Amino acid sequence: MSDTSHLPEYALEAIDLRKTYGGTKKAPPKEALKGVTLRVPRGSIFGLLGPNGAGKSTFINIFAGLVNKTSGTVKTWGIDIDKDSRAARAAIGVVPQEINMDVFFTPYETLELMAGFYGVPKAERRTEELLEAVGLSDKRNAYVRQLSGGMKRRLLVAKAMVHTPPILVLDEPTAGVDIELRRQLWDYVRELHARGTTIVLTTHYLEEAQELCDEIAIVDQGQVVACEPKEQLLKRMDKKTLVIDPVDALNAVPAEFAAYDAEIRAGGALAITYRQGQQSVAEMIETFRGSGGRIDDLRTEEPDLEDVFLALTYNREEGA
Ligand code: ADP
Repeated sequence: MSDTSHLPEYALEAIDLRKTYGGTKKAPPKEALKGVTLRVPRGSIFGLLGPNGAGKSTFINIFAGLVNKTSGTVKTWGIDIDKDSRAARAAIGVVPQEINMDVFFTPYETLELMAGFYGVPKAERRTEELLEAVGLSDKRNAYVRQLSGGMKRRLLVAKAMVHTPPILVLDEPTAGVDIELRRQLWDYVRELHARGTTIVLTTHYLEEAQELCDEIAIVDQGQVVACEPKEQLLKRMDKKTLVIDPVDALNAVPAEFAAYDAEIRAGGALAITYRQGQQSVAEMIETFRGSGGRIDDLRTEEPDLEDVFLALTYNREEGA
């Protein structure tokens, strides 16, 4: 094992971070971040989830140096942006949501220019390796304007990595990208992670977060409503659903299940949602048999991230 004692515990750290936009005569103030404290552990694949307008981009853009915070402390790789914003910014690569590239350069030129911008010496440039990693080697000399949307997005990832930052931030990396390309991008993100890069991504595809992330924060209306390892977050919903496929399809919940949270699924199956450890599956099966039902098949369903997300963000009052 290499010695990691000199490395920061957190890749990104925000303490009581606030951002208010506007507040002028023309634009009324809008509090986008209302005192966010969030720590991204070094080495994680961290997902920042939240509905539209939650404050995800504002958060990311403060780290990227694109938005000025109103107050609070922000550290990147342990470096306070108020003390050394240059060094803090050098520790991070940000893949923006919008595709903004000079279309008259080739992918090769684009990466070389970016490396120059970051002051990476010629001998240390990884242009070929990066093109290979994002599957654009055979397009190295094509004009960017001739690339497909997915290729441009992959080039953006490579562009964010030219200075080999220890942290890569992706803002909605796969929005509008087809399934096959999405998988390809995920694979590359996993590979970067395996090589030691801390990954932070915002996404509204819960499936993406569930598949890729090991730590998840949920933000809503400028506040963090949850931040924990994914498995722990999923366990929070201590609910499961038992689905009984009967031999004879049901068209109503049997009277014996009146006290349960039960419903009939399409196809005539009975779905009973219960709290783990509080209601017994064996008892439910007995009750079903007692109602005269015959069982063809049984299964249980675990909650997924979508259940957790909805439970935490649904119906929260403005300012709550
Ligand atoms: P998300 O990325 O989660 O969709 P944003 O960070 O983009 O959320 O926005 C958070 C809130 O701040 C929203 O209400 C949005 O309208 C507002 N906002 C974002 N950028 C600006 C801006 N430049 N000026 C005024 N309000 C803004």
